Amino acid sequence: MSPDIQMFRHRFFPASFNRPKTVFTFRVLNNFLLDSLECGTSAMNYYSKLWRMTLEHWRQLKTMRWHGFGHHSDNPSTGELALFCPTCPQPGINVLFWKYTRSFVMDGNFKAEHLHPIKLFNEVWLSDGLGFMVGKDRYKMHLAEAADTVEKSSCNNHQAVNQANAARHKLESTGIGGVACVRHGCFVPHSMVDFQKGKRQATCTIPHSRVNHASLADK
Ligand SMILES: [Zn+2]
Repeated sequence: MSPDIQMFRHRFFPASFNRPKTVFTFRVLNNFLLDSLECGTSAMNYYSKLWRMTLEHWRQLKTMRWHGFGHHSDNPSTGELALFCPTCPQPGINVLFWKYTRSFVMDGNFKAEHLHPIKLFNEVWLSDGLGFMVGKDRYKMHLAEAADTVEKSSCNNHQAVNQANAARHKLESTGIGGVACVRHGCFVPHSMVDFQKGKRQATCTIPHSRVNHASLADK
């Protein structure tokens, strides 16, 4: 039986007939006809719609594969979908045992503002806490427990401190910060947080404690 007939029997519509490599399911074609009829959607717009719907999932699958989770069902744990600096010493990865020290720097961007999402139910976390950002539940727990000392700046107009005291209800976060290695500027996985109200002390302690924890675990 020719390849295209085999495709039709499985309810696939091949893009070419002799040696088909791309197929459309009958279901997606029916859905396109309905979209086109009722909403006037062009083929190009429908293609863009499918692209948007599947892009995030595709990125997630590729990231899983790149980090060694493509061929087994183990779930990645915190920070395992991100790589740390290949040059900084990491026992078991690029050195046999602790022979050198490594240093970290903590900094943030206080202008990367993020508005509250309009449709909260559309916000799906595909890799919560698995990459560079700290997991949202763990971070919320930390913020709830950590004491926040409001710093009074004697400097007349010091932005980082004055921002901390300003009410900014429209923003979900007022910046982003994290820990990187001093020498090469590579971010530490699972050590980045967004700032809730400027640069709060409580916000900054989690990446720091995370790095200390990671360093101790390595030893
Ligand atoms: Zn480094």
